[in-house]
Formats: sequence, structure tokens, C-alpha cells
Amino acid sequence: MSKRDYYEVLGVAKSASDDDIKKAYRKLAMKFHPDRNQGEKAKEAEEKFKEVKEAYEMLSDSQKRAAYDQYGHAGVDPNRGMGGGEGFGGFAEAFGDIFGDMFNGGGRGGRGGRQVYRGNDLSYSMEITLEEAAKGKDAQIRIPSWDSCDTCSGSGAKPGTSTKTCTTCNGMGTVQMRQGFFSVQQTCPHCRGTGKIIPEPCTSCGGQGKVKRQKTLEVKIPAGIDDGMRIRSAGNGEPGTNGGPAGDLYIEIRVKDHDIFERDGDDLHCNVPVSFITAALGGEIEVPTLQGKAAIDIPEGTQAGKQFRLRGKGIKGIRSSYPGDLYCHIVVETPVKLTEYQRKLLKDLDESLKKGGSKHSPSGESWTDRLKSFFS
Ligand SMILES: [Zn+2]
Ligand SMILES: [Zn+2]
Repeated sequence: MSKRDYYEVLGVAKSASDDDIKKAYRKLAMKFHPDRNQGEKAKEAEEKFKEVKEAYEMLSDSQKRAAYDQYGHAGVDPNRGMGGGEGFGGFAEAFGDIFGDMFNGGGRGGRGGRQVYRGNDLSYSMEITLEEAAKGKDAQIRIPSWDSCDTCSGSGAKPGTSTKTCTTCNGMGTVQMRQGFFSVQQTCPHCRGTGKIIPEPCTSCGGQGKVKRQKTLEVKIPAGIDDGMRIRSAGNGEPGTNGGPAGDLYIEIRVKDHDIFERDGDDLHCNVPVSFITAALGGEIEVPTLQGKAAIDIPEGTQAGKQFRLRGKGIKGIRSSYPGDLYCHIVVETPVKLTEYQRKLLKDLDESLKKGGSKHSPSGESWTDRLKSFFS
């Protein structure tokens, strides 16, 4: 897939100032924010957001921008330093970092004033083989999990002390700010929306009331899954705040390139080398399938590039009723490292074929005609 130009992604000119780039980024990021793109639009919006985020990360860094201006995509590696190896981060983290304040201040949660936030989604990328994609797989993955802190029983306060109601917002979590003629509700800056102040935070969890651990999750990879598909594991994202629901975990599937097969939807394609003698005389050849070896009869006079279809030897996609087909593409091999004797045999054969004229050359006549009209 070819990558779009970063300036084009953000919709700014090459001469855009840092400020213009930031503004364009904020606008687009709001547009593709998951809160505004639920249901069917979610996946597309996330892809768009990733693209926008990457473009912003590159163009907001003067060194990377210079490298990109000079060498294009080849000059910068967006995967470096993004924590890709661990599989986490990206989408969910970006919103936590950049938009925490912006969106959390937007008056969500309502009831009782205390802000209730849904936890961030997490994404995890998993690489599997084509065989695993075809058959499905039970996998175990390690994901972060958050447990209520044992030391403070989740309150965040040092044992023996207690939390106090925030006096700035009277426990509401929000405060009214006057801006000109308007009164705007904002997250309380003192307690950050929790409505509580912890005078002496618990040392085990730093006042968070929860501790990060790891847990093993069993994941069923369904048979037929394809590269780029995602599996949603509801409630396995980051925990919510103030009793809000947990986010979801998305497992992104990457299917490794296969040595023999190339997948196109439910169909598979492979190249099968055939000697030019077999191509000329015809015969049975052995071809690989995901289920093992198979044989096909190729007729005499088979030309290079000819396809043979093996019905049902492709992959049964997740939403398909029948498996796809396997297409074997014939590659006629030219023999190499010939002995003197073999060269003579071929020369004799060539002489003999020439005597037969164009009848031995199926594309000869039309080719000669096409050349004639091309040069005339
Ligand atoms: Zn604690
Ligand atoms: Zn407060």
C-alpha cells in the first residue's frame, strides 16, 4: 500500500508553519476521535487517526521534517521509538496523552458532578503465519491489567489516613469558569475531576488506588482471518475512572509473508516452475497446497503464465461459505549450464522447428504482424 504524503494527510502546504501544522492536526484528531466515530465508522476513523498522528509526529519534529522533505518516506521511520515492539501504545495512549485535558473537560459524566470516564482502548498486534490464519489458532497473550491496590484497598490514601472532599469544587469534580460572557464547566484542576483530595497518598500505588500488573489472556483467532483484521476483546482495555467502564482491547492481526503462497481474499496464488520439455510435451506435475501435495495434469503445448485452478484449495474466509481456490501459475524454465551435447540437441531441434515454420510458434504470427504495424 503506498503511503500518502504527510502534508497531504494534514491538508497543509509544504511551507506550513509549526503552528499551522499543530492546528491542522488538532482539527483532524477531533474529527476522528473515537467518541465521535462509534460503530461502523470506528475502524476507519482509527486508521485515519493513526495516519494523521504519524504525519503530525513527523512534521512537528524539525529534524524529522527536514529528513522527510529531503528523502520522503524513505528518510523517516515512523515505527522507531513508538513502542511498536511491545504492541501497545499508539491510539489509546495518544489520546490519553494529548487529549486527556481537552476531552475530559468537555462535561462528560454529568450525574453528581463527578466525571466518569471510560478507560482507554488498548491495541495489541499479533503476527501469525498463513497456515495459522487458514486454520485458526488458540493464542495466549500477555496484556497489562490493573488491580485494586491491596495496601489502600483502592482508596489511594495511605493506610490510617483518609481522602478528603476537594474544597475547590466541593466534591463535584468540575468548576465553572467565566470566559467573557460565557460560563464554562471545566474539570477541577485541583482534584482532576475525582472530587477527592488525598492528603497522604498510598506509597504502593502513588495514590492511584490501582496497580498495573500483567495477565495472560486466551485469544481465539478464528480460521480464515486476514491480514489487518482486528479482534475485539471487550473490557480488557484500561480501567475507567470514577467507576466508568473499562476500555476494550483490540488485537490486530498481521499475517507474515509466505514462502510459496500469496493470498488474495479467499484465493491463493503460487508460481510453479515447469521445465520447457514438460511444458511442450505435457505431463503430471506436483503442486503444493495448504493441505499437502496435489498433482495436476498439464496439457502439451502449455505456455508460460498459464494458470491452473484448484477448486476449494484456497482459504475459507471468516464470512465465506466456501473456501476460495488455489491458482497455480506456470513458470516455464529455460535450462542453464548446458553441455556441448545438449547444446547440439537444442540447435538441431531449433533447425527442425524452423523448417516447420510458424505452426510451432503459437504467438509467432500475430507477434510478427504486430511488429510490422509498430515499425511502419
Ligand atoms: Zn494504594
Ligand atoms: Zn476538585
